Amino acid sequence: MAIFTASFMQVFKFGGASVKDANAVKNVAEVLKKFATGETIVVISAMGKTTNGLEELVNAYFNKTGGTESVLRKIKEYHFTIIKELFPVKNHSIYNDVENTFVEINWMIEEEPVSNYNQVYDQIVSVGELLSTKIISAYLNETGIKNKWMDARGIIQTDNTYREGKVDYELSEELVKTQLLPAIKQNKIVVTQGFIGGTSENFTTTLGREGSDYTAALLAYFTNAESVTIWKDVPGVLNADPKWFKNTKKIDELTYHEAIEFTY
Ligand code: ASP
Ligand code: MG
Repeated sequence: MAIFTASFMQVFKFGGASVKDANAVKNVAEVLKKFATGETIVVISAMGKTTNGLEELVNAYFNKTGGTESVLRKIKEYHFTIIKELFPVKNHSIYNDVENTFVEINWMIEEEPVSNYNQVYDQIVSVGELLSTKIISAYLNETGIKNKWMDARGIIQTDNTYREGKVDYELSEELVKTQLLPAIKQNKIVVTQGFIGGTSENFTTTLGREGSDYTAALLAYFTNAESVTIWKDVPGVLNADPKWFKNTKKIDELTYHEAIEFTY
């Protein structure tokens, strides 16, 4: 006799605006408490305007226009302001974790650029998502929402078209089955990065600006999820970005394939 378990998969995506400060992160916890009823993959973007800040850093570094320190300091201060508000206990390991992540960027920009602009860009800009997910995953665990942090670079595999990595569907789907699904069976909630992927040579790639929705759609497709929810401050999925286009239309239903097309 077959035994059916009533588990279902959902994918939640939170964009930069939805994690832009400590209150926004607290709201993510509230959303998960209420709505993460099944197994949930949480895909998160970089906090607020971090990606733009990191782009500025890459430009200053690559074009040697100076100012790398001040740009990096701003990004660092911004993240630590959020951390201090979320983690009043100053010896929480997140302080070290994030500090170390910034040390790694420092190491990168102390050396002369060793490769082309796009490759350098991806190694640096991807840090925004690594930071946001580390902070949010730790905060959720701290507040009783048990979850596992996963490195999307070990799941979403791409070629080495830096800044526009082409996803290897077969390999990524395989990695979802062997890495992500077992983790979610154990932890129920997995927190991972949108927008970033990895190559077979372990370099980091990005999927194009605003690529986090694409990651969410891919993971929903690979896991045959019941739903993908893009949490944000507009009424639903629109046919265009209302910040740029007038008369946008709300789309009430679409398939995962259409979602992948749209978000891409
Ligand atoms: N953080 C990236 C960006 O700002 C990806 C995303 O948010 O979707 O483009
Ligand atoms: Mg975004």
